[in-house]
Amino acid sequence: MEITADSVWSNCLDFIKDNIQPQAYKTWFEPIQAVKLTGNALSIQVPSKFFYEWLEEHYVKILKVALTKELGDDAKLVYVIKMENTYGNKQPFTEKIPSANRTPVKSQDVDVPFNNKSPELKNPFIIPGIRNVKIESQLNPSYTFENFLEGDSNRLARNAGIAVANKPGGTSFNPLLIFGGVGLGKTHLAHAIGVDIKDKYPEKTVLYISAEKFTQQYIDSVKKNNRNDFIHFYQIIDVLIIDDVQFLSGKTGTQDVFFHIFNHLHQNGKQVVLTSDKAPVDMQDIEQRLLSRFKWGLSAELQTPDFETRVSILKNKLYRDGVEMPDEIVEYVAKHIKTNVRELEGAIISLIAQSSFNKKEITINLAKDIVDKFVKNTKREVSIDYIQKVVSDYFQMDVSTLQSKTRKRHIVQARQLAMFFAKKYTKASLASIGSQIGQRDHATVLHACKTVDNLSSTDKQFRKYVEDLAKKLSL
Ligand code: ADP
Ligand code: MG
Repeated sequence: MEITADSVWSNCLDFIKDNIQPQAYKTWFEPIQAVKLTGNALSIQVPSKFFYEWLEEHYVKILKVALTKELGDDAKLVYVIKMENTYGNKQPFTEKIPSANRTPVKSQDVDVPFNNKSPELKNPFIIPGIRNVKIESQLNPSYTFENFLEGDSNRLARNAGIAVANKPGGTSFNPLLIFGGVGLGKTHLAHAIGVDIKDKYPEKTVLYISAEKFTQQYIDSVKKNNRNDFIHFYQIIDVLIIDDVQFLSGKTGTQDVFFHIFNHLHQNGKQVVLTSDKAPVDMQDIEQRLLSRFKWGLSAELQTPDFETRVSILKNKLYRDGVEMPDEIVEYVAKHIKTNVRELEGAIISLIAQSSFNKKEITINLAKDIVDKFVKNTKREVSIDYIQKVVSDYFQMDVSTLQSKTRKRHIVQARQLAMFFAKKYTKASLASIGSQIGQRDHATVLHACKTVDNLSSTDKQFRKYVEDLAKKLSL
């Protein structure tokens, strides 16, 4: 039989499959394709640099054994990295492209001899000088990797987080962008990365901050005329974790300053971790140049956990709280609450509370009652954008009209109603509501809320507006 790249690789796979966990095999070996066999050098194509580094770090031994069996002692392995976006990434792979092997577009070859276990990945990390500033990390120590349970839904994101924590700034996942829906663990994972880094590298300056707070700080710095201090503060950080970057959408000033901070950190080998409720392609009103940087590293999605993972998350929580609960009940809750881990935990907490306050036994019926209430009461979170849209539609105007500077009474009223509902139904601060609804300041929002309160108790027509809108927002 003729020996081809495919036949060699397929034999290697058989061997590897027998020797590692099925899930690991599925995750790390199934996506690989054999592309070329030249003498005793087998080229395999991997989907990303992340993959390549992962294989090198975890599977280099088994790869060597498998390949030596097939091709003899001087077998060689060549990785072909198929990248979607190499633009601007200053990882040193380009230095290692053997010109003879160079493939024209979008893929880069890395020739890795086995004896060189860690290929010369240039570590751009710069050890900072002595500092006189101590920066509080703002990390929540209870959000760790250990209590972030792994499942298919989060395996890539969690493992990438661990890799980043082991070598902050020293992997190609820079930035690491974790994205996914509400309550799926983005904030938890972001903290876990920071907590682990602080643990392993106590001398590193780690900072966790929400994009909302970052924006507010920036706005304040402009007001107080110390924008440069703001920038310098962020530029000395080793690991910058920004939560919910989708919040930056439409905020061009903040995006601009973040762009400069990001570039500085990235160029100096500092680690940036971002979270977002959307994938970069779906982010709106974020400048292109910033979006392209978000894609430099790795974007890893948190998906909704499957049933098994939901059960293990609940069991782990109960275990940590020292509470025992029949499996049947845990499974009932996990079966009915599917899309949000926060709600899952909320239901189990109410269940424990109900039973201990009322001295009721935890039965399946009690679980049913609570899950029912829970599922009914968990309304989708409304955003300020959504509120503006509903209010504009109701008054048959465009959102841009609602946000405009005009003083026409009916438009002013619509704007005030939007502010009122934003205050009532979101957690955003007055300042943040103001900046999202037509660039007003917090005093204007406060005034709007008071006006709506007053008018709805004195003006019947106006009260109807409030009631109609409340219904439309279905709260
Ligand atoms: P997000 O930021 O995506 O809205 P959070 O990080 O706030 O979500 O997570 C919501 C809750 O769910 C937190 O209490 C978190 O600890 C928990 N959680 C989410 N995913 C997991 C997981 N895989 N294992 C354990 N707890 C989880
Ligand atoms: Mg969050």
